[in-house]
Amino acid sequence: MSMSRFNAVEKASNRKAVEAITPNEKVSEYFGENVFNRKAMKKYLSKETYKLLTEAIDSGTAIDREIANHVAAGMRMWALEKGVTHYTHWFQPLTDGTAEKHDAFVEHDGTGGMIEEFSGKLLVQQEPDASSFPSGGLRNTFEARGYSAWDPSSPAFIVDDTLCIPTVFISYTGEALDYKTPLIRSIEALNRAAADVCRYFNPEVKKVINYLGWEQEYFLVDEDLYTARPDLSLTERTLMGHESAKNQQLDDHYFGAIPSRVQEFMKDLEIESYKLGIPVKTRHNEVAPNQFELAPIYEECNLANDHNQLIMSVMKRVARRHNFRILLHEKPFAGVNGSGKHNNWSLGTDSGINLLSPGKNREENLRFITFVVNTMMAVYKHNALLKASIASANNAHRLGAHEAPPAIISIFLGTQISEILDKFENSSIEDAIQVDDKKGLSLGVGQIPELLLDNTDRNRTSPFAFTGNRFEFRAVGSSANCASGLLALNSAVADQLNQFYNCVETLCASGKPKEEAIYEVLKSYIKESKPIRFDGNGYSDEWKQEALSRGLDCETCVPLQYDAYVKPETIKMFNNVGVLSEKELYARNEVKWEIYTKKVQIEARVLGDLSLNHIIPVVIRYQTVLLDNVTKIQQLFNGSSEELTAEPLRLIKRISGHLNAVNSMVFEMVEARKKANKITDQREKALAYHDTVVPYLDKIRDHLDDLELMVDNQMWPLPKYRELLFIR
Ligand code: ADP
Ligand code: MG
Repeated sequence: MSMSRFNAVEKASNRKAVEAITPNEKVSEYFGENVFNRKAMKKYLSKETYKLLTEAIDSGTAIDREIANHVAAGMRMWALEKGVTHYTHWFQPLTDGTAEKHDAFVEHDGTGGMIEEFSGKLLVQQEPDASSFPSGGLRNTFEARGYSAWDPSSPAFIVDDTLCIPTVFISYTGEALDYKTPLIRSIEALNRAAADVCRYFNPEVKKVINYLGWEQEYFLVDEDLYTARPDLSLTERTLMGHESAKNQQLDDHYFGAIPSRVQEFMKDLEIESYKLGIPVKTRHNEVAPNQFELAPIYEECNLANDHNQLIMSVMKRVARRHNFRILLHEKPFAGVNGSGKHNNWSLGTDSGINLLSPGKNREENLRFITFVVNTMMAVYKHNALLKASIASANNAHRLGAHEAPPAIISIFLGTQISEILDKFENSSIEDAIQVDDKKGLSLGVGQIPELLLDNTDRNRTSPFAFTGNRFEFRAVGSSANCASGLLALNSAVADQLNQFYNCVETLCASGKPKEEAIYEVLKSYIKESKPIRFDGNGYSDEWKQEALSRGLDCETCVPLQYDAYVKPETIKMFNNVGVLSEKELYARNEVKWEIYTKKVQIEARVLGDLSLNHIIPVVIRYQTVLLDNVTKIQQLFNGSSEELTAEPLRLIKRISGHLNAVNSMVFEMVEARKKANKITDQREKALAYHDTVVPYLDKIRDHLDDLELMVDNQMWPLPKYRELLFIR
């Protein structure tokens, strides 16, 4: 067994970079070549169909079967010309990742032969045999049907020989079984709410668009080293492993050049992404050794999220071509930084205004403050929900680990915006309606520097930060579906904007001028939402105390964090904006608890196996070597061996201590699991796993990591941290 570690290390160390195959054309020429985008639609659809389809996409209206038939025919022709043989409805079930079931284009032709077939019916709707996807009880087995339905707003694309059609996944009775359905609902709710408010300032605005720019962090590990670590292969994280003497203290990886093997991987990944129409823009090393980041130019939220889902699977494929494995887990290695996925979030109008960008005059800045303050209010009211929306067994290892924001949601605004809001709050209505250039507010809000973007301080410790023209939701985990957090954020902000609109309307109806009404409502919001504002060090222990006293949600237990989804105020909010029903919320929580349990269960099993079958046998062998040594010394130095055997004997005893501890704790952990497995209620079961199983993972690991430092390096069977983190 120990040979496989050294084999792996040797193979990995001698690996040469696999050169990326760079197309001859410029990026602009092959960008989107594997996407059925407007250019392809124009070529493969009739003028009439093109017009009807694009109009339906732009206005979000339904597409009838007749058009669907035409679209399907054009899509098929396009795909066949590209050598595609299969198609699939591509959807995002509640497990992380995407699902697909491939069908060949062929059908019987009725005379014993086959023809290539793809009808509008197959494009629009399918019934994947999906009874095994989690539904939280929304699909009883007697109606174990889930439908996938075409989302025309996100274009179909080709991966290998398969045409992938982005779809939503819903139950027979219309409940969402996926992430895309409620995300789209939330985008629509936000569009409506934000457009109403926006028209106070810009009456011509028809539509507000929700933008997302994600930043994806990940680790790369050589594939042989990866395969030699059962924990990485089965759980994507190392369940044991002593810290390397050197890790990220010197920050030399962050500032260093990208290693050549990785460079080629990144090039390859970028080429693949461009072909799929994903506008990737930046690549760089991250803080931890072998950690990297990739970010595209931001796009409309639904499309951007599809692109993030897609790129996570493309990354896995491309990595293998370069003899790497990708780790998207939030915390693959203890002692070095984990991986997140910052979600840059903003709102823009169809006329091109960024609603989170300070403007040039008083009116534009009042609009800016309106949207910042309402976002702040939404995050304040629903801080527990937002945390639940990004909570997972994986992300729990990262949040609060002194490298990522704590498990408390707060907002960082930076000194400039904070000062402006303070001034706003402390002004009297008389100050406010003083005449300045025209009649209206003179709060100094006209003087917000336009260059705010470059001036905002960068507070890396905040989970939700204003960064000049957008908010950055940083607590999101690297393996998550962005939609989980964004559908909560969008819904909360939409509901908040609706409330704001209603308050302003009521005041106006009672005779208040519009600007005064807006001012009055905003002022009360600034006061009320104060507890959510925190510009200090989010990693500090004082903040945890402070946050508690401010009444922010400080729950650290993931299964309990999920309770926020079914609190009355959450159910009401989601219902107000029509994004998720009470039934859906309960069902989705069942799934969340179940996934939590399963993740912990798998980790516990793997750690038990590693302990009993990989580590303990080796440790015993080493102990026997020591015992032989002691016996021989005693034989040779009969009578005067005490001093000579003191050290090996001490080591033998220490090893025995750890061995016994590991053995008995693995046994206890199995018992704890057995007990928890008897619980049928998913929430209770997840809690039992959290309370009684998780603690063993850390305790057993501590002993194993100590043993790693005692046992002969030549015998140690699993690749060590220094090998996993520094060979590339
Ligand atoms: P950072 O310093 O945080 O790495 P970047 O300039 O690399 O910032 O941008 C991070 C992400 O934010 C990118 O995906 C970028 O496209 C996105 N982004 C920039 N402006 C906006 C915006 N107005 N709305 C949404 N995302 C944005
Ligand atoms: Mg960022």
